[in-house]
Amino acid sequence: MVVLGVVAMAAVLAAGCRSAATDEPSRPIAAAPVDVEPSTELAKRCLELEKLALEDNAAIVTLRALVTAAPRRLAGSPGMKSAENWAMEQMLAIGFDRVVAEPVMVPNWRRGTEVSATTSPRAMPLRVTALGSSVPTPAGGIEAEIIEVRTFEQLRELGDAAKGKIVFFNRPMPRIFRRTGRAYGAAVPQRTNGAVEAAKAGGVAALVRSMTTTIDEHPHTGAMRYADGVAKVPAAAVATVDAEALSAMLKEGPVRVRLELGCETLPDTQGHNVIGEYRGSERPDEIVVIGGHLDAWDLGTGAHDDGAGCVHCLEAIRLLKAIGWRPKRTIRVVLFANEENGLRGARAYAAAHEGEIKKHVAALETDSGGFRPMGFSCSLRGAEADRIERLFEPLDQLHAGMFLKGAGAGGADISVLHARGVPCFGLWVDGNRYFDYHHTAVDDLAAVNERELALGAAVVAYAAAVLADQ
Ligand SMILES: [Zn+2]
Repeated sequence: MVVLGVVAMAAVLAAGCRSAATDEPSRPIAAAPVDVEPSTELAKRCLELEKLALEDNAAIVTLRALVTAAPRRLAGSPGMKSAENWAMEQMLAIGFDRVVAEPVMVPNWRRGTEVSATTSPRAMPLRVTALGSSVPTPAGGIEAEIIEVRTFEQLRELGDAAKGKIVFFNRPMPRIFRRTGRAYGAAVPQRTNGAVEAAKAGGVAALVRSMTTTIDEHPHTGAMRYADGVAKVPAAAVATVDAEALSAMLKEGPVRVRLELGCETLPDTQGHNVIGEYRGSERPDEIVVIGGHLDAWDLGTGAHDDGAGCVHCLEAIRLLKAIGWRPKRTIRVVLFANEENGLRGARAYAAAHEGEIKKHVAALETDSGGFRPMGFSCSLRGAEADRIERLFEPLDQLHAGMFLKGAGAGGADISVLHARGVPCFGLWVDGNRYFDYHHTAVDDLAAVNERELALGAAVVAYAAAVLADQ
């Protein structure tokens, strides 16, 4: 598959920063020996990486530097350029063997005025934020009655009742799921497709309950899409505490809401995937990609999403160099240009490297925040997965030995490599707090624990080196 089809693309958008699982089997890792037991040497190196990461505590310093240099870095923005420059300087300072910025055309969407409140039966301010790619409201905003639904089916059953109204999608992320990413997946179609469904029902706008497991006052932005042949109506997320209040007010009778969004879509602009290599000692043309995305939503500083992932990857190379571990194959760090609102970085990488996809022996993504690492998800199944699981066993020492097999792509950016048969791995972290911060103004450095971030870097370093060495 040369590019993701519409369905696959929708799945990736819906998955947002979580695994974009398609269940196609990956090809086995090339030229791998049939059976390898983790040696005491590997266990020792794993502990060495942990010790160094915790002792010198450089990960948090690097993350602070990123969010200081480029606090706002949505693709297409001036901040994204600052982030690219920062990343290249970091790679050179760490001593990567080759550093390059590969061009990619990215969307250029800007947020503007964001104001909303109920106007009847009484005035109540609503904390809202435009969803990425939304069209603006007409100047001066719109005012209409709202209608609350939990599902698209419910909306369709309403028939003409939504005509001329603002459709309020208020299905919470299910709190019962142990893996919050799964809860996100259960609710996020409201955000991704809410505007399309609202417009099909004759609605004038979509107001979507924020994607979070908690009740908070922060509107959580995120990607949404329009469909050909369906009117484009404005779409915004509303903070969950306000969504609850709005729902309670609706129980008393009709509610009117005013919504004003001043966002705009400018012509696409040029961004870059920032790429750095730690060259392999024996098979330098064979590649293990490790990556995260350099772009971030513009409300906070993207410290968790995905500053942490970028830092995990940069730190991984620094740690490996520091302990003198140069694997046989090349580890290629790819900091993708545009995950949040387009996946253009991932698609451009795959297109630019189509000729060497067969030389990609594995891809690993870290895009679930800088929380305590627990292990990895893996696209492989069967004997190949069992073999890698044994190589990853030393991570048990760091309490990061969980290994989920047959789990799909492991991340949106590497989903394009997964689709081409490259074995894929996703760093798995404790996700209980991720959606407290995800895509909000409070995704900032204060939300990141320095020990957890450092441990994540050590775990990524170990996994990357083992994959590149076996
Ligand atoms: Zn992300």
